[in-house]
Amino acid sequence: MSVPQRYLLRWLDHVPTHCPLCLAASRGGRPCSGCLVDMRAAAGHRCPVCALALRPGAQCPDCAVLAPAFDRVVAALDYVPPVDQLILQFKNAGKFHHARFMAELLAQAVRHASPQVERITIVLPVPSSRQALRRRGFNPAGEIARQLAARLGLAYRPGLLLRSGEGASQKQLGRAARTGPQAGRYQCVGPVEGAAVAVVDDVLTTGATLHAVAVALKKAGAARVVGLVAARTPYRQD
Ligand SMILES: [Zn+2]
Ligand SMILES: [Zn+2]
Repeated sequence: MSVPQRYLLRWLDHVPTHCPLCLAASRGGRPCSGCLVDMRAAAGHRCPVCALALRPGAQCPDCAVLAPAFDRVVAALDYVPPVDQLILQFKNAGKFHHARFMAELLAQAVRHASPQVERITIVLPVPSSRQALRRRGFNPAGEIARQLAARLGLAYRPGLLLRSGEGASQKQLGRAARTGPQAGRYQCVGPVEGAAVAVVDDVLTTGATLHAVAVALKKAGAARVVGLVAARTPYRQD
């Protein structure tokens, strides 16, 4: 990140604003300190791989079903009230500036995570479908990923990952992706050999999307794939 960009970010962090949940005085567009306490209250014991909130000692039901190709997930928050309200404002009500504090909270979570996470060199978002991009006008995961990469001083490479049939030329995809029986929903079209790649998403539900992305990145030679998500959905027994 360039020096003027860093100053701009720091300045924006201190601009007086209102809490997007309770309208109390706040700064930098983030929730007020009281709402931040409510948001963080859900954090506790988690699955060491997919970050699902669990009772201490409980086995993770999602990892038991999925056997994920990703190595681990870091989640800033759980997708429970009032976090769900903020994510819905962000994704569907044009509040794309919420990406700023989500990236800030996620950056804090990454800094507290293990050295495995600290060795990340490339940051990219889960790509939106063309349909979702047309509807929203932006990729929510991309907004968080771009700002997170800037805060952590890491390379932001959104172009390395494409959804199948959406912009990847036959030449870019390579023979295996064109013809292989494992051709998945995502393709990696750039150099990731030996790299630790962070894949950013706004919400992680079952981990199936992150798994599909991790399969594509590892097929292309990525050494590690870490999911960085703003919010993790709790397990639902239904
Ligand atoms: Zn508030
Ligand atoms: Zn798990």
